[in-house]
Amino acid sequence: RTASPHPLEVQDVTVRFAGLTALDAVSFTVAPGTVHAVIGPNGAGKSTCFNVLSGLHRPARGSVRHGDAELTRLAPHRIAALGVARTFQNIVTTAGTVADNLMLGRHALTRAGFTASALRLPAAVREQREHLAKAREIAELTGLGAHFDQPVALLPYGDRKRVELARALCLEPTVLLLDEPVAGMNAAERARTAEVVRHVRAELGLTVLLVEHDMGLVMRLADEVTVLDFGKVIAHGTPEEVRRDPEVLRAYLGT
Ligand code: ADP
Ligand code: MG
Repeated sequence: RTASPHPLEVQDVTVRFAGLTALDAVSFTVAPGTVHAVIGPNGAGKSTCFNVLSGLHRPARGSVRHGDAELTRLAPHRIAALGVARTFQNIVTTAGTVADNLMLGRHALTRAGFTASALRLPAAVREQREHLAKAREIAELTGLGAHFDQPVALLPYGDRKRVELARALCLEPTVLLLDEPVAGMNAAERARTAEVVRHVRAELGLTVLLVEHDMGLVMRLADEVTVLDFGKVIAHGTPEEVRRDPEVLRAYLGT
C-alpha cells in the first residue's frame, strides 16, 4: 500500500453518553502525510474521538470522511480494511513472542484463510512466509528487530508497549491512529518511541493522528494540533500557536 492522498475529515461530530456530551460538534481535518495531534485534559473526549474514527462508537451526528468512504457508517474491521489502523490507550501486550503478536496483526490481511493454512496448501504456505517477512521488517522499523523471537512478557515496558504500535503497522495502514503511545514510559522510552513514529511517517508516508497527554512529545512530533476541552474544540494550530493560546493554557495546563 502507498501513502494515502486523502485527508481524514472529521465534521461536526457529536457523541452523547447518558446525560453527558463527550464530543460536541467537533470538526478538524488531518492532512495526508502529516502528524496531527489531539490533546486536552483527562475526560476531554480524545479516546471517544478515536472510538468514532475506528467505528467503535456511532456519533449522534456528524461525519468522518476519508476519500470516498464515510467511516461513521462502517464496522471497525471495514475501517481497518480501508487502511485506518489504531492502537489502544491501555493495551500492553503480554502473551506470546513479538513475532506471534505481529503475525496476529497480519492475520486480518490473510487471503488464503484458515482452512488452507491448516492443510498447508502451497499458496497458504507462501503467504505465511510473506507475512513473516513483513512482520520482521516492521519489527526492524519499530526497533523490535532484536527481540523478534522473544516472549513479549520479558521485554522492558517501553518495548512491550511499542509492540502494540508495531501490530497496528502490520495492517499496512495509510492512516495510523495512536492513542497515548508513550503513556507510562520513562524519558528514554518516550524519546525512542517518538523517533520510531517520526521514522515510520517518513519511511512509509503515513498520516498519523496522535492522542497524547505528553506536551513535550506533541511539540516534537506534531505538524498540527487540535485541542479539546469538555468535548469541544477550543484551539487549533501549530504546536507553537496552541502553546501560546491563553485558552489552552487555562484548560490544559490548569493555569
Ligand atoms: P479522554 O480520552 O480525553 O481522557 P474520553 O474520551 O475517554 O476522554 O472521555 C470523555 C468523557 O466521556 C468522559 O467524561 C468520560 O467519562 C465519558 N465516557 C467515555 N466513554 C464512556 C462510555 N462508554 N460511557 C459513558 N461515558 C463515557
Ligand atoms: Mg483517553
